[in-house]
Amino acid sequence: MPNPLLDVGELPDYAAIRPEHALGAVRDQISENRRRLAELLAQPNPTFATLVEPFEAMQHRLNQVFAPIGHLNAVTNSDELRAAYNACLPLLSEYQTEVGQNDLLAATYAAIREREAPALSAAQIRVLDFALREFELAGVRLPAGPKARFKDLMQELAQLQSKFEEQVLDATQAWSRSVADAASLAGLPAHVTERAAAQARQQGQDGWLLKLDQPTYVAVVTHAEDRDLRREFYEAWATRASDRGPCAGRFDNGPVITDILRLRHEAARLLGYGNFAELSLATKMATNVAEVIGFLEELADSYVPAGRTELAKLEAFAGRPLDAWDVPYYADKLQRKLHDVSEEELRPWFPLPRVLSGLFAIAERLYGVTIAAREDVTTWHADARYYEIRDRDGATIGGFYTDLYARDHKRGGAWMGEVSVRKRLGGSPAVRPVANIVCNFAPPSAGQPALLTHGDVLTMFHEFGHALHHLLTRIDYPSVAGINGVPWDAVELPSQMMEQWAWRPEVLPLVSAHVATGEPLPAQMLARLLGTRTFHAGLAAARQLEFALFDFRLHSGTEAADATSMAEVLSAVRARVGIVRPPEWNRFAYSFMHVFSGGYAAGYYSYKWAEVLAADAFAAFAEAGVFDGPTAARFLDELLSRGGSRDLMEAFVAFRGRRPDVRPLLQQHGIAA
Ligand SMILES: [Zn+2]
Repeated sequence: MPNPLLDVGELPDYAAIRPEHALGAVRDQISENRRRLAELLAQPNPTFATLVEPFEAMQHRLNQVFAPIGHLNAVTNSDELRAAYNACLPLLSEYQTEVGQNDLLAATYAAIREREAPALSAAQIRVLDFALREFELAGVRLPAGPKARFKDLMQELAQLQSKFEEQVLDATQAWSRSVADAASLAGLPAHVTERAAAQARQQGQDGWLLKLDQPTYVAVVTHAEDRDLRREFYEAWATRASDRGPCAGRFDNGPVITDILRLRHEAARLLGYGNFAELSLATKMATNVAEVIGFLEELADSYVPAGRTELAKLEAFAGRPLDAWDVPYYADKLQRKLHDVSEEELRPWFPLPRVLSGLFAIAERLYGVTIAAREDVTTWHADARYYEIRDRDGATIGGFYTDLYARDHKRGGAWMGEVSVRKRLGGSPAVRPVANIVCNFAPPSAGQPALLTHGDVLTMFHEFGHALHHLLTRIDYPSVAGINGVPWDAVELPSQMMEQWAWRPEVLPLVSAHVATGEPLPAQMLARLLGTRTFHAGLAAARQLEFALFDFRLHSGTEAADATSMAEVLSAVRARVGIVRPPEWNRFAYSFMHVFSGGYAAGYYSYKWAEVLAADAFAAFAEAGVFDGPTAARFLDELLSRGGSRDLMEAFVAFRGRRPDVRPLLQQHGIAA
């Protein structure tokens, strides 16, 4: 039987892929790449065309082989798949480090850069510069001993980060709460209790079974009138994978965190940086540690006082001091009183099919693309779909899968992932970009489509914004096409900008239609929804600033942080920007996957950084009209289609006519600068 992972066609054959295919496919492709690389380096006088392009093509192919394994592991996790995925990681990490530390390859790139620069395009130069920086960061210049150590560090880190994520997933699934008495569920939306009843039946139990998936957790802490139930859920959630709470010690990420921080620090020092934060900034739009801290502090100066006032008003409304598990509950009540609208009440106006058709219509108006479902594509789950995206002339640009509902054995949260990156190079077949859009919305119940909250709508717009960045690229070299080669702190610009449309009165009628009547969101409800946008903006931003400062300071010491110094950093950060006082046993860091298993280490500030860019970029649309053709064309030409082939500050200035300004973001939040 041929291995479906190695038979790379237009789209992966998800129905045919089994866990046992993973290791063999990755191993075979890596040996093929090794053989090919040796061949490329052995040729006399390699050039951009005879070395760089074929090298781009083979790296691209390895990514295509591995992408379905990573994706399936995230959306259909099983013991077998997890073991297969984990078995591939050391091979990939070893190969990547080996390529990154290949002196001859690095020297050849440098020579090509030197010799051919005058004849190369700007994008080709970026391909070389980007690769040369990667070589440097992979330790290519290190002497043999430290070089070998660096290689080990990268492998160990990859495993630790994967373990961190597994323990969060396991801890989330390990906990659930049986409820026998309907009174305990008072306040919870019907779709949550219906699902809980179904889950109890599945387990052969009476009553209800509430699990700890994100939609259930959010519903309980926001709506459950039973304060003890809220507290119980908050505790289970905030202590996941830690030494505290109901599963204390069973999946403890404490030692994993200490190891990760120690190894990151060592790696940074080996490369000549003072700490991991400095290393992180080597590939960012922000230029140094002080600039990032200064940026976060500047925002804190505006947001924290606003947030403190908001909490004081909330406590006055509740009539008592509030614990962390009370804040979402009373905030929802206050918001309802002030704006008479709650996320749950809005659901009937946002059936998923309507939200998607509206979203696709916006992309059509802005960028001239059309999007249509293709039913003949096999996927990994009955809920997953495939859509094709075409240009004005009807030519296929690429496509994307959606997998939008929460379920067991699926990683929480939402993300856009690459299935394949656009590639058009001499000597190998052209490849179109394909994306995955994954969310965890509450699934449809009782003969209705899934009904989204407005927050869910924003999430959908956000991930779609990433997908457009990936799909609408015009760059032919995969290493700098789409989101590749884009600095982390700018990669959220297109996604956060896309969210802005979901707040506009011109747009909301396009994405809303009541599930029973088909009516768009009534004007009066729309006005109330818009009122919610600035509601508790200070509290929300202060929380993001707390995460960002915690992450950045944690990685910017002269020594690696351990459990003690981590606690110190956290309390210093909370003293500066913390507003809601969490209990002593809160262990949010132990499930902070962005920082400990994702790509946001010493980079969580990127969300705010990009939010400032996004609000300012959208202000250009707000000024010209949200569907203004020339503005959209300029954004596409100068920034969105350029991927990592152009310096982001240069692209931003070309689009906006000036450098970024924080004021549009503060204005959007109703906060004075
Ligand atoms: Zn994002």
